[in-house]
Amino acid sequence: MSFSRETVEDALVACGRLCCICHKFCGVRIEMHHISPQHKGGDDSPENCIPLCLDCHAEVEHYNTNHPRGRKFTPGELTKHRDKWFAMVGALNTPVPQVEELPSQVSLSVSGTNNMVAGRDLHVTTSKIVKKTVVHTDPGGKHITNTTARKIHALVQEYIDNHKVAEKDPSRAAQRIWGRLKKEFNVTAYKEIALEDSERAIQWLHAELAKSRPIIRRKDPALWKKSFYKPIYARTNELGMSKDELYAIAQSRLALKKPVSSLKDLTQNNLEKLHRIMIAEVKKRDNQESS
Ligand SMILES: [Zn+2]
Repeated sequence: MSFSRETVEDALVACGRLCCICHKFCGVRIEMHHISPQHKGGDDSPENCIPLCLDCHAEVEHYNTNHPRGRKFTPGELTKHRDKWFAMVGALNTPVPQVEELPSQVSLSVSGTNNMVAGRDLHVTTSKIVKKTVVHTDPGGKHITNTTARKIHALVQEYIDNHKVAEKDPSRAAQRIWGRLKKEFNVTAYKEIALEDSERAIQWLHAELAKSRPIIRRKDPALWKKSFYKPIYARTNELGMSKDELYAIAQSRLALKKPVSSLKDLTQNNLEKLHRIMIAEVKKRDNQESS
């Protein structure tokens, strides 16, 4: 099988036809790679798709495990490259959420002759004007890391997607969730969230996502069930696991008699449980990495 036309189109737009690894512009010389290989059960879902230039694609595909030289690309790393790049390209192209995505400390300095800044309006009395946006780096690292920022971004996207499924206005959903997140953590931009609040922010978003699911449940119970597939596979990718490994975890942790060959085999109840298990696994992994 291969990726659907819609998946490919969405991925090409999300990356701006720039390679997710080396970030060069590819034009037509771009290919869709299966992050988790098809022979290992990788599917044609958008979560498993990463657009790559021909060079990077060859590097990713042709790594010889019998004669390892250098460092091979793992599914987990590819997913991170893809999510980071989509978020960066998205921040450049999406006018509405961009306001929320600006780095925490941006100062606008205006220089020129006879310019007068009054309140929030800039009155320009001459054509000679230089605008410069200065982005300061995080002083002393007291704010969330880029990794946490990426996770927050992905969870917010899940929230917005849930509202799309429920045929709710996604831009209003985006405004609402970003607004509530900033209010909850008392910041003007999400990247200002304190480093020590990293985990609480992730947990808070997971809770908001859980709360948003009943909207879909009312709208369409079958879709509601499906709405768990994407987040479960997202966590699976985050852990660098294959589908088979996920199904093995599902069978053992949910104490099922029959082996699992698809998430469709699971009841609604078990899907919810499996989702919680996978969230806990990611948290466990993160704790191990940071200790
Ligand atoms: Zn490349």
